[in-house]
Parts: sequence; C-alpha cells; structure tokens
Amino acid sequence: MISVQLAYIGLGSNIASPIEQVRQALSELATLPLCRLVASSSIYASRPVGPQDQPDFINAVAALETRLSPLALLDQLQALEQQHRRQRQRHWGPRTLDLDLLLYGDSQINTPRLSVPHPHMTARAFVLAPLAEIAPSLHVNQAPLSAWLERIDSPHPNQGLKRLTEV
Ligand code: AMP
Repeated sequence: MISVQLAYIGLGSNIASPIEQVRQALSELATLPLCRLVASSSIYASRPVGPQDQPDFINAVAALETRLSPLALLDQLQALEQQHRRQRQRHWGPRTLDLDLLLYGDSQINTPRLSVPHPHMTARAFVLAPLAEIAPSLHVNQAPLSAWLERIDSPHPNQGLKRLTEV
C-alpha cells in the first residue's frame, strides 16, 4: 500500500477552447481514483515554447494527494489527455491538453517513461509561477521557486506570462 503523497500536475492547452480544456481537466483530476485535488492555481496565458506560429497556451498547476504510484498516476494523466482527443502533429506544436507530472513527493525518478521532477519545470515561468501561487514555500532541486524564477533568462519578465484574473 502506497502512503499518501503530494503530487503537482502541470496543465497546458492551446487549441479547441483552451480555457475550457484546462478547467475541465482540473475537475477531471478531482475524480481520479485514489486522488484528492487539494489546490489549483489561477489560469495563466503564456507564449508558446518553440514554434511561434501557434496560439498562446493556457496553463495552470494542480496539487493532488494521491495513493497511486508515480507510473499509475502517469497512466491516469495520459488517459485524460486521450479523452481530450489530444492532437499533436509536431514536437512543441499545438495540443488540446498536455498534463505533466511535475513533482511526486520528494521522489527523484529517472526511467524511460517518467522523469520527476519534470526536467523542464525549473526553466518555465508557466510552471513556476502557478506552482508558487499554490505552494509558495516549495523547493525544487534544493532551491526555492523564487530562485528558479529569477534565473529564467528572457527578455520579458516571467517569459511574458499573464495571470488571467477575469476567467
Ligand atoms: P510531452 O507530451 O512532451 O509532455 O511528453 C510526453 C512523454 O513524456 C510521455 O511519453 C511520457 O512518458 C514522458 N514523460 C517523462 N517524464 C514525464 C513527466 N514527469 N510527466 C509527463 N510525461 C513524462
């Protein structure tokens, strides 16, 4: 029996009514077996990473208490992505729903299917800022989220991330 762990999930969408995709995914996360949604961030908009000829992304981060193993949780996240009929034609291209397992307790996981902490999370404002909103004192790879945010090299503050307050 796996003890309760706190996992953080990153959500992203940039086609097919992305705000609705993310909102719906947040409510679906709350229904996963052996999971309890304990927090969700505001909704944010970010410029795409990679090809710029695609719509902005909508992002959020959720905190889940879970008794699922990391791989069982990944299975559930990938099933949700499929339910949203995830379309993905090219690397870093548009997608209806992307769910990343950012953190799973203090676990360090490096397997072909799963890397935790998520390898790109410390370089992405659209993960760090919503995560800091729901877990301000969290540390990743021994550094506080604020330190990772300060290290981001971008001409724009927080990579042009915007918190959407009126959605
Ligand atoms: P992407 O669509 O770019 O998020 O990548 C999906 C692939 O990344 C899947 O094949 C997963 O098995 C793999 N993967 C590795 N680590 C993670 C993680 N922490 N969260 C989600 N997917 C992961």
